[in-house]
Amino acid sequence: MKHFDVIVIGGGHAGAEAAAASARMGARTALISLRRDGIGVMSCNPAIGGLGKGHLVREIDAMDGIMGLAADQAAIQYRLLNRRKGPAVQGPRAQADRKLYRAAILDILKAEENLTIVEGEVVALKQHEGQVTGVTLADSSDIVANAVVLTVGTFLNGVMHVGGQRQPGGRVGDRPSVLLAEQLADLGLARGRLKTGTPPRLDGTTINWSVLETQPGDDEPVVFSFLNRHPQVRQIACGITHTNEKTHEIVRSNLDRSAMYGGHIEGIGPRYCPSIEDKIVRFADKSSHQVFLEPEGLDDDTVYPNGISTSLPLEVQEAYVRSIVGLENVRILQAGYAIEYDYFDPRALDLSLQLKAMPGLFLAGQINGTTGYEEAAAQGMLAGLNAAALALGKERVVFSRADSYIGVMIDDLTTRGVTEPYRMFTSRAEYRLTLRADNADQRLTPMAMKLGCVREGRRIAFLQKREKLIKATEMLQNQSFSPSELRKVGIVLSQDGAKRTAQALMALPEVTPEKIIELVPDFATFAPEIQQQTATDCLYAQYIDRQQQEIASVKREEAAEIPSDFLYAGLPGLSTELGAKLSRIRPANLAQAARIEGMTPAALTLILAHLRKAR
Ligand code: FAD
Repeated sequence: MKHFDVIVIGGGHAGAEAAAASARMGARTALISLRRDGIGVMSCNPAIGGLGKGHLVREIDAMDGIMGLAADQAAIQYRLLNRRKGPAVQGPRAQADRKLYRAAILDILKAEENLTIVEGEVVALKQHEGQVTGVTLADSSDIVANAVVLTVGTFLNGVMHVGGQRQPGGRVGDRPSVLLAEQLADLGLARGRLKTGTPPRLDGTTINWSVLETQPGDDEPVVFSFLNRHPQVRQIACGITHTNEKTHEIVRSNLDRSAMYGGHIEGIGPRYCPSIEDKIVRFADKSSHQVFLEPEGLDDDTVYPNGISTSLPLEVQEAYVRSIVGLENVRILQAGYAIEYDYFDPRALDLSLQLKAMPGLFLAGQINGTTGYEEAAAQGMLAGLNAAALALGKERVVFSRADSYIGVMIDDLTTRGVTEPYRMFTSRAEYRLTLRADNADQRLTPMAMKLGCVREGRRIAFLQKREKLIKATEMLQNQSFSPSELRKVGIVLSQDGAKRTAQALMALPEVTPEKIIELVPDFATFAPEIQQQTATDCLYAQYIDRQQQEIASVKREEAAEIPSDFLYAGLPGLSTELGAKLSRIRPANLAQAARIEGMTPAALTLILAHLRKAR
């Protein structure tokens, strides 16, 4: 019988990250997945990162995880979302070549010396006196371990839907995990059904690109990993087109044939990734929706039409897709479909993602009710670190809301649970001015080094960078300038006569790093990325106090009553979805509002501000 310290079941985004983290901790780890060539597969859109999600990728990278490294090896178009807003809410995103991403994940895992990849189906967990002791595979062989991480994604009792047709499956081309689902059901854990969907895939050679707008990547790409500076493969542009009245009419008149709307699916879907059916029902006043045509790879003609996921029958998919400009003669390579699957109530887990009722069993990824590769990977990393810690007799690893988005997500999941697929947003974090994508390494790499999960190359690179940042900041702190000195380089400030440090000046939007170099010529000796990081750190240093005050005042006023006729609809800054939810539930006070799933610290601050205005 084979024996490992840790077994990870599933080679998706959670499983790959869990296995890599466990192996980096020094635990002998087995990654068991249905198909070796299914490891690192992106089930839906060929993209990594985005708002909130990009923060998670950076945090994984700061812990020496693998998602950012693989994404950089596969990225064919980088775009920094919210570029015009402050760095705290900017989200690095890249479109990824599917094959390159999968190959990169597999290469990284194969290179982990403590990791063994096993192809097989886990059909049961082995237990002894309430403790997990290993797994049984479909060929009846057993593998034993001190800790097991379960990351089977959308595969538990997965059922795929296209129109009225249903077919068991974990995703297209993969069978579901039924035997394991049956055994897990016997454990008596609270569970539910969720659903998600994907658009049809198009043959790019049949798209009329000449009539379409194109969207290039950023001129100055922002990569994911702190170890990388530049894109690693050729960069491409995407196409943009739009749905129109005809598209909407086709969808509307076939709504009863959609799996989502025809009553064939009981699970709840991701509100923030609506299907085309959802869009047409929920946003009935809109006559057009944007569709991004995203090539799936450098040597692949498949195109992913982002924005039109569906579960309508294939002939309706063909009709509505061909009503769109540029797609009049398009060939569908694979029909869009919806999938419903089992998830477990994450409130059964502790902060290390270990099942409270069954020591040694950790759950991570879509199985915990989340959606998205990044959310899955971040949980996988945490579960992998903790499974290894448990197996090796080390202290458990916990993140907090104040140190990371990972901490925010785990706290949200384990205390509030989910009623719909959970995805990350910057608005979920009360400490978002400090939890930035740009400083994830400064926040988390020291912790990772203490845990012993950072490889030598990254450790050295991090220490060198930190030393330079400290020196650059000290240089700016130690030099002050009077208003007349500032006027000489063209900086005119209010005339209070006070001297200002270069650090304080750096925080002013009108003062560029170039101006600082005129004042402090030695600052030019630092590399542009160190100058930039120092500038961002200076900018946010001044807001930290305000952030703490806002958090404290929401806490102080938890009992503040919210009038029963409070007008949530149209409250500037409050999302339509959250406004609708609050209008329906009508919490009596801020504390009750805070407990509503999907409620964000930003929204609470907003409501409090309006309550104060009305007093
Ligand atoms: P997965 O990526 O599903 O990986 C599960 C792994 O477990 C697979 O490798 C599988 O082979 C393995 N496995 C399963 N059962 C067993 C077993 N018994 N033994 C051994 N191995 C097993 N996310 C979004 O953010 N937006 C979307 O719009 C979106 N749409 C989606 C549409 C579809 C149709 C699907 C299928 C997924 C969609 N997702 C979407 C979700 C996204 O794919 C997941 O969030 C992400 O893949 C979850 O990662 P994971 O590691 O938890 O699970």
